[in-house]
Amino acid sequence: MTPPVRPAPIRPRAPKVGIVSLGCPKALVDSERIITRLRAEGYQIAPDYAGADLVLVNTCGFLDSARDESLDAIGEAIEANGKVIVTGCLGAEPEVIEQAHPKVLAVTGPHQYEAVMEAVHTHLTPPHNPHLDLVPETGLRLTPRHYAYLKISEGCSNRCSFCIIPRLRGDLVSRPVHHVLTEAERLVKAGVKELLVISQDTSAYGLDVRYKAETWHGTEYETRFLDLARGLGSLGVWTRLHYVYPYPHVDAVIPLMAEGLITPYLDIPFQHASANVLKAMKRPARQDKVLDRIAAWRRDVPDLAIRSTFIVGFPGETDEDFEILLDFIREAKIDRAGCFQYENVVHAESRALPDHVPDALKEERWHRFMQVQAEISADRAEAQVGTIQDVIVDGVGDEPGIMVARTKADAPEVDAVVYVEGAMHLKAGDIVPVKITGADDYDLYAALA
Ligand code: SF4
Repeated sequence: MTPPVRPAPIRPRAPKVGIVSLGCPKALVDSERIITRLRAEGYQIAPDYAGADLVLVNTCGFLDSARDESLDAIGEAIEANGKVIVTGCLGAEPEVIEQAHPKVLAVTGPHQYEAVMEAVHTHLTPPHNPHLDLVPETGLRLTPRHYAYLKISEGCSNRCSFCIIPRLRGDLVSRPVHHVLTEAERLVKAGVKELLVISQDTSAYGLDVRYKAETWHGTEYETRFLDLARGLGSLGVWTRLHYVYPYPHVDAVIPLMAEGLITPYLDIPFQHASANVLKAMKRPARQDKVLDRIAAWRRDVPDLAIRSTFIVGFPGETDEDFEILLDFIREAKIDRAGCFQYENVVHAESRALPDHVPDALKEERWHRFMQVQAEISADRAEAQVGTIQDVIVDGVGDEPGIMVARTKADAPEVDAVVYVEGAMHLKAGDIVPVKITGADDYDLYAALA
């Protein structure tokens, strides 16, 4: 007797969520966490609007330009797909989003992972059988495999007058140091060669938990910037510190760079150099004697690269203040600098300050700043020619036969790159010595050493 033919089981198609991630690396980490949760529950991630059953837009709300970009992205997603949930920084102001886009299904604020998931469940039924084992231990990441952002805290307890991050993200909440170190170790085991430490104020790490001590691999580590750096330094990969404020204890991390445990790179958002402007900005950490400190850091770690961001045209900034700023970047030889024209961000305290700078003057100062910075950067690049340096390969360049890589002085996505010849056999994440053969204003050209 022929056995009855059983129909093949009908597997329901996994619901697909499209993700649009806007904003800074911190927002990117939030997106990664959300994607990890979605995949853990059995949702698929759709690569485009057309293939998605629902689109999640992770927004940025820091500057007016970012708010506009976020609102445009929401509009585009609604037009292309129709089912849209909004999260992220701009989500802290649901009325703005709902007014511009009444068709949005739900709005949640920054790092409200539970609320995002709840909104997804409401509008897209979760699959019946979650395949938890599909999710790697490291979670799912949006950055290439060889580098990863490591978020050590949420929020910020400072109150800089131009900034609405604390309003959007709340006060500082530090992750326990052993959790951060365990995550970093997993990332390294999964092939990550470069860790990028991010937060709103990396030097304030642990202040909210009174630097609570935890144990990791049998050793006690305080939830503190220096201990964290020491732990990360033990993992044997490049470790970059971003958003470090020049508090006195930053000096203590310089010996770790001298020993080669931490990458000789400090991202310090100085924002300005004039005492008057810094006071009006209500910046944390005093900046007097900062030039002396930078000189001392460079004495101990000659290849230290300093990246920073600055705001020109802050309310009350005089010609003299601006000249102080230019003198500062010249003297400090800030290797990499981003410069922004002051924006009168909605809800920022600085809106109420007197003596706003006219737009044309802001623009003029911005151009002058960029000119000086280009000269500093070009001098720096020129000085590298002839040296041999380790670079980390990011991938294939646009020109045939050229690989794109970075030196220790360059963070991904924001800094310069090195174009390397004769390295096509290498793969992303390889770290190799190269000889620098040429330079333009920012980027370097090299051949394998
Ligand atoms: S330190 Fe100042 S600029 Fe940075 S997030 Fe906190 S309040 Fe904003």
